Amino acid sequence: MAAKIVDLRSDTVTKPTEAMRGAMASAEVEDDVLDRDPSCFRLETELAKLLGKEAALFVPSGTMANLISVLVHCDTRGSEVILGHDSHIHIYENGGIAILGGVHPRTVKNNEDGTMDIDLIEAAIRDPKRELIYPTTRLICLENTHGNCGGRCLSVEYTDRVGEVAKKHGLKLHIDGARIFNAAVALGVPVDRLVQAADSVSVCLSKGLGAPVGSVIVGSSSFISKARRLRKTLGGGMRQVGVLCAAALVALQENVEKLENDHKKAKLLADGLNGIKGLRVDTSSVETNMIYVEIEEGLGTTASKLCKDLEEYGILVMAMASSRLRIVLHHQISANDVHYALSCFQQAVDGVPNENGK
Ligand SMILES: *Cc1c(COP(=O)(O)O)cnc(C)c1O
Repeated sequence: MAAKIVDLRSDTVTKPTEAMRGAMASAEVEDDVLDRDPSCFRLETELAKLLGKEAALFVPSGTMANLISVLVHCDTRGSEVILGHDSHIHIYENGGIAILGGVHPRTVKNNEDGTMDIDLIEAAIRDPKRELIYPTTRLICLENTHGNCGGRCLSVEYTDRVGEVAKKHGLKLHIDGARIFNAAVALGVPVDRLVQAADSVSVCLSKGLGAPVGSVIVGSSSFISKARRLRKTLGGGMRQVGVLCAAALVALQENVEKLENDHKKAKLLADGLNGIKGLRVDTSSVETNMIYVEIEEGLGTTASKLCKDLEEYGILVMAMASSRLRIVLHHQISANDVHYALSCFQQAVDGVPNENGK
């Protein structure tokens, strides 16, 4: 067992801080299904205001946030959603929109920066005059930051342009904003401006923001009341949920301002890793708290092997493909941890047997 563990697998691994635990212990609560839980109401009000939308809804997970959002926008079976081929909704959410909502996914290629070409989005919209053979396009989904594209940010200009396309064709726009605060901080734009064109946004509280549990959906009041009903249908109506929301309120107060530092630590780590022979990081694409590391063929190891070797040193990272590792920074990783991780990476790489069987 290594003396020290530095867990870089995800920003979901943060532990609640003392302040969060204190807030949870003293949270004012009520039954949020029968009445409204006051702490939950406070969190929802705060997030609606921050994101510039009329209303908000606390849900147990980001997956449920996206599922509810897509299903409310696509409330008839045979609806179609346009989304990135590498988006979280399409890849990692069990096909829930199809299984539970009868919503058909129409994928458009994600570029390396997480965008989809506007003309490809427009070309994917079905001709409503041909409904005899086509599903009905109702929704476009964006993801910001884009996880599988290395945590890259979609700009205000891009988001606005997609919003215009949606409007022009009578479609809704949903943003999977699991890490939207990371994007806003990295771009230096107010988060409400960044999502201005969206009809709904899902936000994870338990990623970079560091809360233990939960996501929030924001949108219009009528959208959120439909979302509330669907949340109950899915079994996501929770009773004294204020114990969770109290922690999330602390996360909002204390951790948004730490994201900039997470991004700096990510750059520092990315630069260091790129300097290790046999590893390659496209450092210019490290925009937020996520790093993808390519293992060069000459190194003679695989991502999963290197992952195992690093584990011996107490460094936890995620193997994403045969030669690709993912690293995610968060507020509980210090600059010292970054330096320690770099030295462990160096040792693990040095320990890889070369062709002469070192
Ligand atoms: C984590 C994540 C989700 C899902 O959140 P869970 O709480 O794990 O269900 C959705 N979208 C993106 C981009 C994510 O990173």
